[in-house]
Amino acid sequence: MSGRPEILFPLFGALTKLDGIGPKSAQTLEGVGIAKPLDILMTLPLSGVDRHRRASIREVVAPSVATVEVMVGEHHPPRTRGRPYRVHVEDAETSFQLVFFHARGDYLQKLLPTGQRRLVSGKVEIFDGIAQIVHPDHVLPVAEAEDIPAFEPVYPLHAGITQKAMWKATRSALGLMPDLAEWIDPALKARENWPCWTAAMQAVHHPQATSDLSPHAPARERLAYDELLAHQLTLALARAATRRTKGIASVPTRVLSDQVLAALPYKPTNAQTRAISEIAGDLAAPLRMNRLLQGDVGSGKTLVAFMALLGVVEAGGQGVMMAPTEILARQHLDGLQPLAESAGVVLEILTGRDKGTARTTKLAALAEGRINILVGTHAVFQKDIVFNDLRLAVIDEQHRFGVSQRMELGAKGQAVDVLVMTATPIPRSLALAQYGDMDVSVLDEKPPGRTPVQTALVSSARMDEVVEKLHHAVTEGRQAYWVCPLVEESEVVDMTAAEERFKRLRAVMGEGVVGLVHGQMPPAEKDAAMARFVAGETKVLVATTVIEVGVNVPNASIMMIEHADRFGLAQLHQLRGRVGRGAAASTCLLIYQAPLGETGRRRLEILRETEDGFRISEEDLAMRGAGDVIGTAQSGIPRFRIADLERQAGQMAVAQTDARRLLNDDPTLETDRGKAARTLLWLMEQDKAILLISVG
Ligand code: ADP
Ligand code: MG
Repeated sequence: MSGRPEILFPLFGALTKLDGIGPKSAQTLEGVGIAKPLDILMTLPLSGVDRHRRASIREVVAPSVATVEVMVGEHHPPRTRGRPYRVHVEDAETSFQLVFFHARGDYLQKLLPTGQRRLVSGKVEIFDGIAQIVHPDHVLPVAEAEDIPAFEPVYPLHAGITQKAMWKATRSALGLMPDLAEWIDPALKARENWPCWTAAMQAVHHPQATSDLSPHAPARERLAYDELLAHQLTLALARAATRRTKGIASVPTRVLSDQVLAALPYKPTNAQTRAISEIAGDLAAPLRMNRLLQGDVGSGKTLVAFMALLGVVEAGGQGVMMAPTEILARQHLDGLQPLAESAGVVLEILTGRDKGTARTTKLAALAEGRINILVGTHAVFQKDIVFNDLRLAVIDEQHRFGVSQRMELGAKGQAVDVLVMTATPIPRSLALAQYGDMDVSVLDEKPPGRTPVQTALVSSARMDEVVEKLHHAVTEGRQAYWVCPLVEESEVVDMTAAEERFKRLRAVMGEGVVGLVHGQMPPAEKDAAMARFVAGETKVLVATTVIEVGVNVPNASIMMIEHADRFGLAQLHQLRGRVGRGAAASTCLLIYQAPLGETGRRRLEILRETEDGFRISEEDLAMRGAGDVIGTAQSGIPRFRIADLERQAGQMAVAQTDARRLLNDDPTLETDRGKAARTLLWLMEQDKAILLISVG
């Protein structure tokens, strides 16, 4: 595989080659991720200033920017220190003043020689009844008037870099653009009326009016689409690479799963049945499975996963299920163990806590195939762990498991089928960005018999009353979670808040009634505290967000969330999903710190209005922006520089279809359009993807 095409070299050269950028500015820019001419081009103007020429400032409604030709009149240097330097000027219809503070007279004499004509541009203001421009943005000899564009782009600035420097740098970067063959589907391009890449770049850096700055301007849309297409091509290549890997066909016989289903006290929902059979189809096929199981909290993903695991056991293989925390891994073990036993299947747990001989024994059993299903934390993927015949890896609750991690898991060599489960209902555009390489099964139906959770907002000023009510509910036999504020991104700080609350509640409700779990606790203590709560010994469990995902205690019917205003909506929804699992009516109390702003209140009210995770996630996206919804850093979603996942949501789906079709027709990217698409991948620095292009 050859490297970056030569045609792109100038765009990947040194920043200092650009006008206006010296070594010092180059260093500053590099600090903010602008390291080459291409990055300058990808930095689009945020706004623009109208500098079209007018004959006079007379009609201008001050304060506002105007650009006029003037005759320079008398200079009035300041009579006392600290006063401004004034220059009298006349345009076609009226006279006004140019005002300078701390200016050097000789410099101004040169800039504005009395008796000559100059083009000036700046903000016209009225001061003491006189029109003036303080420190004009531009003063130029009339012959150089073209240097002031009629509509001047305004770039995002970084310390020490001026608009003028950005303007110059972009102009010279534009000059470095090569002619590139088109990678966009011609029909799509025609339908959307998009310019070619170079023309689009020229247009976005030469806006003519405010409308050109809109994300829906054709040039901007095209460049945004380029980013989306490159991303979707990467995902499509990853998908194709996975599908190329020969999987092992594990044909489920249903011998075991039928026994388990018969032993269950309930029937699977239609959605569960559908997902189970979609997965069974993948397992039976000789292709490698790469599937996402998406379902809101409480939709019953665990059963679906277990049926899949039994499927590979029936076919003579092994399965592994990875949970993000120790608590969850243990809970899976406890929930699944009785089911496994009823079918004579050996289920074991492996976490970071397994050490010494106990661990060695488990590893040996695993290597010899005496363990059928392994449940655990990240520990199950450690290097020295060898399976006898691993066929399926289930990754639970991993909204923190990004595209590149999946690529790595795929690269582990074995043709393991992968099932990723997520409870984060994310908007479709984000789902496509994050999981576009996967096939998707959705659990869009909840098991019957759930009572809706009553959600209420209350100010922390009423804390005493809140605690009193909780105390009362507890004496009636109810159980509650009390989630403590996320003070900072640090478990240590969270812990202090949780410990503090624990002590206070204990003081009110008595010894032994209140339990505590947080991430800093020794694991054994954490388990013990969890176990006491599950057994109903403790009635209130004070916790940090470690209980966020997956934890299941059906008798708990009250969820108190302190400082709810500091949590993301999706997270609050997840937390609330911990209750409402049993038959009893459940309550969720969102305790906020007053005063709560307009948006803050609106956010919490959405939770009161709906339990529909998808609606909540759409609202969350609209209010916070894509990056925050899932936490860009962890999500595996690239930071798009031009594309905007809210405004261009529809384009993501188009890009996915287009990318998959292109690869289907031209798997090795050899046609003209395929070659152009390769260039796009290089341009967008999708180097990992390029390695995935199949050879021959
Ligand atoms: P999640 O999708 O959040 O992981 P779980 O798999 O933990 O959900 O299931 C939540 C609860 O619902 C568990 O107690 C589980 O036993 C129960 N459950 C799962 N499927 C059904 C069903 N079809 N009918 C009734 N209860 C079910
Ligand atoms: Mg779960």
